[in-house]
Amino acid sequence: MRDALLAWYRANKRDLPWRKTRDPYAIWLSEVMLQQTRVDTVIPYYARFLDAYPTVDALAEAPLDDVLAKWSGLGYYRRARALHAGALAIARDKKGLFPRTAADLEDVPGIGPYTAGAVASIAFGEPAPLVDGNVARVLSRVFEIDDDVTSTQGRARIWKIAADLVPERHPGDHNQALMELGATICTPKSPRCLVCPVRSHCLASAHGKQDELPRKAPRAAPKEWRRAAIVVSIEDG
Ligand code: SF4
Repeated sequence: MRDALLAWYRANKRDLPWRKTRDPYAIWLSEVMLQQTRVDTVIPYYARFLDAYPTVDALAEAPLDDVLAKWSGLGYYRRARALHAGALAIARDKKGLFPRTAADLEDVPGIGPYTAGAVASIAFGEPAPLVDGNVARVLSRVFEIDDDVTSTQGRARIWKIAADLVPERHPGDHNQALMELGATICTPKSPRCLVCPVRSHCLASAHGKQDELPRKAPRAAPKEWRRAAIVVSIEDG
């Protein structure tokens, strides 16, 4: 499965700016920007942000208000605040040197297991796993995981599979290949199994369950809240 996935990725991967670098700072930036934002939207912001703050030290030295202004329009501003806080911590505690392992990266404020795995595997070649929504979907289908992938048990199973699967050689490409497969072929609705490079390894496809997986607990029904407000305007005279 790994060989087929890697060969497919190398032949078909989208040409994205953060795939042309091994700079951990640039990879970190792209991963943060890509959380909750589409690739097409991120590309110009990524370029402008790197122009303004080309290194982690440059970002750490910038006033937070300037960083937020550069982020303006990308939304979810807590990401920019976390990025700035992380840059300050790396500049202050690590003398501007990026931690090189997923375990050390997770000590940086704002860097969670997914981002730590992405930076460690792509920038430093550590065979560290990562799981995002795309990877969880692909692995739950290939290995026919019936657990709710948002539950503690389901997440643990998917992370364990991802860790068992990540190879010593080219772990960054392997992780990106899983994400790319989820983004372009093994999509949430109507996965394109007929052209999928790992179809012969996929249990969900073999059992016709690709549209049933991944399982997620149903969302709680929305609650109705009623509120009243009174505005009192007092004018002089
Ligand atoms: S065969 Fe279908 S369900 Fe299985 S990984 Fe490929 S696209 Fe996803």
